[in-house]
Amino acid sequence: MNIGVLALQGDFIEHVGVLQTIGVMPRLVRLPGDLSGLDGLIIPGGESTTIGKLAEAFGLIHPLREFSKTHAIWGTCAGAIFLSKDVHRDQPLLHLMDITVERNAFGRQVDSFEIDLPVPFFEDGQDHPYHAIFIRAPIIKSVAGEAKTLLTLPDGRIVAAQQGKLLATSFHPELTPDPRFHQYFSALARS
Ligand code: GLN
Repeated sequence: MNIGVLALQGDFIEHVGVLQTIGVMPRLVRLPGDLSGLDGLIIPGGESTTIGKLAEAFGLIHPLREFSKTHAIWGTCAGAIFLSKDVHRDQPLLHLMDITVERNAFGRQVDSFEIDLPVPFFEDGQDHPYHAIFIRAPIIKSVAGEAKTLLTLPDGRIVAAQQGKLLATSFHPELTPDPRFHQYFSALARS
């Protein structure tokens, strides 16, 4: 299993750490050539405008769109924003997932929060909820076309979506020791 982590900005090292705990030796991706031979790519949290501008500068936008046609990509937080088709403001996006996103939907840094969420598509996801960490997180405002809602907060707001092999989570699974989302993504990349 060859999983890459986009390493332009943000908390890519934390993703590397969790992947190693499930036996994956990830590759850091900075240039288009780094994508070759990968089964899947994770785009980390950070600052989505910065990630987008660096991706443009490094000539990655077109190669990432091509990669997505046959491979799995998972965007966490800023990465989910970058995967989306619309954030109602001008910034570089991949426009790959048929989701619209609102940035910083919960407010400022001080409004960051953590919550235990039951995840019905994990084998033990009802009995062992997933501890989700939201840091200046986006909300997925709408899901259309082939994209499907995966997970909501108790109030119904959407925090995870999937479109084929593309996955978006507005929280940070790389900041908990629980590897279940990384396992879910590796299975997607393998499929
Ligand atoms: N607020 C950031 C953005 O809009 C995302 C925050 C994060 O990735 N933790 O890009």
